[in-house]
Amino acid sequence: MPEYGIISTMKYLWGIFLAVLPVGGFAATNSFLAPASFPGTFADLEFTQQMAVKAAGYEAWESEYKNGRCVKNCAYVGITIADDDRLVQERTNAALGDLRRHGYTPTTSGILPTMIMPTLGTGGAAPQCTPHHPQILAGQTIPVGEPLIGQPRITTPYGERIHPVTGQPQLHKAVDLSAPVGTDVFAPASGTVAAAWTDASCGMGLRITHSHGYETIYCHLSDNTLVKPGQTVTAGCRVAKTGNTGRSTGPHLHYGIKKDGDFIDPTRFLNRG
Ligand SMILES: [Zn+2]
Repeated sequence: MPEYGIISTMKYLWGIFLAVLPVGGFAATNSFLAPASFPGTFADLEFTQQMAVKAAGYEAWESEYKNGRCVKNCAYVGITIADDDRLVQERTNAALGDLRRHGYTPTTSGILPTMIMPTLGTGGAAPQCTPHHPQILAGQTIPVGEPLIGQPRITTPYGERIHPVTGQPQLHKAVDLSAPVGTDVFAPASGTVAAAWTDASCGMGLRITHSHGYETIYCHLSDNTLVKPGQTVTAGCRVAKTGNTGRSTGPHLHYGIKKDGDFIDPTRFLNRG
């Protein structure tokens, strides 16, 4: 049973975490130790808090760490960067395994149509928008491929890094793609615009929900008004323009993917083999 595997993994990670707790540290917080409750996730919020988050239209997009442990916007409060990364990689592998079971074949050829899943995407439809990303078929429903035209340089990969602005260790749960301000951003899969917002970290942000539990997140945009929350978008259509807003040191696109509410490593969903 896969559920059992996930629970076992969580108990294992939780055990590691408890084992390294400093004396007199987090252990003093009672609810924090209850194995059935992990404060810091959306599900653990009070009803009114959940409503506030939903009313805002987005979840916080970036975790914050202090002394190597997550203190804000975490999968689990207190989780280490290494364990957080391990969870993300497990989810990424699970997502890729799921796609393979549906006929997805990873490719290094750079030809996107071979990545279309027969039962997950319909593919082949004519472009329904101008401009249209030339490598993304209009019917694609899973976010595989590039959100920008071409294969722009990855200036910051997914993974642990020292944040260039805060100087703090951080798990960068996205890829940063080099792009001049005003570059067209395309939806790699059809979906619905879930939120368009501005905050201090993400700057102008956009989040699109896709089928099969996938979401794509775009930050530091210069224009997030090309599509509106609630609007459906077709794969390959332009949805935003890149910029340098929010906590950013230069023009780029911060591109993240979530699966079933949790970040996965987007690198392996780009069209780069
Ligand atoms: Zn980034």
